[in-house]
Amino acid sequence: MGKKIALITGASRGIGSCIALKLAADGYTIWANYRNNHEAAEELRKKVEAIGVDCVLLPFDVTSNVETEKALQPMLEQDVPEVLINNAGIIRDSLLVWMTEKDWQDVIDTTLKGYYNVTKKVVFNMLQQRKGTIVNISSTAGQSGFPGQSNYAAAKAGIIGASKSLAMEVAGRGIRVNVVAPGFIETEMTAKLPADEIIAKIPMKRMGSPEEVASVVSFLCSPGASYLTGQVIAVNGGIYV
Ligand code: NDP
Repeated sequence: MGKKIALITGASRGIGSCIALKLAADGYTIWANYRNNHEAAEELRKKVEAIGVDCVLLPFDVTSNVETEKALQPMLEQDVPEVLINNAGIIRDSLLVWMTEKDWQDVIDTTLKGYYNVTKKVVFNMLQQRKGTIVNISSTAGQSGFPGQSNYAAAKAGIIGASKSLAMEVAGRGIRVNVVAPGFIETEMTAKLPADEIIAKIPMKRMGSPEEVASVVSFLCSPGASYLTGQVIAVNGGIYV
């Protein structure tokens, strides 16, 4: 049996690095994409290798089709990932009346253009193998909306529609596509938010951990989820039900 590979975008930090470690523990060789935080990516590589599997670091900006092609094409000529996790994401919060065109576009591009650039290439190869699992990371903001996050909510709602469409396109070829929609998770992305105010609104009265997102992603990639496709699984402590 050949090695099984998981490609995770935005894997250097936060939820992405936790997903990479969990999938490494599940036995996947890791292809870890990130943008430019080489130090954090190196740390991830060491941790993955300590688990006993290989980790290839792939620094490229998912918003650039040229960079994505340059990084992924040579890899895809050798191997095909069984698992793709589209996790790279950014926030640029402000009320819509104050939002710059750049902040609108950067957030949309990271989630949606990034999804297009990476997924189009990988799914082509998965289709030939007639095998694969894709998990896209959305957000509660994409399900319920959130003031100050019009750009982010639009991107994260968009990824839900894109995932459901792809799920129906590729189900007959043995490929499953699902979405995980985390609520407030403790990472650098949420470090500057007013934790007490947020926690007061969460029915479980705490923020989630990246590990609690990673374990759901791991399940979605496992044989236990073999009849599960086109679904959105919320991991949010009950803040949106
Ligand atoms: P972090 O800010 O901690 O990490 C973001 C990761 O994405 C980093 O690895 C970063 O790379 C990478 N990244 C950002 N832009 C690009 C790009 N253009 N190309 C390649 N990689 C990129 O975020 P989180 O771990 O908190 O979030 C991960 C995902 O989960 C995101 O999609 C986010 O929207 C979503 N999410 C997070 C929630 C939370 O509460 N934290 C809640 C709901 C959803 P580098 O280190 O090089 O900058």
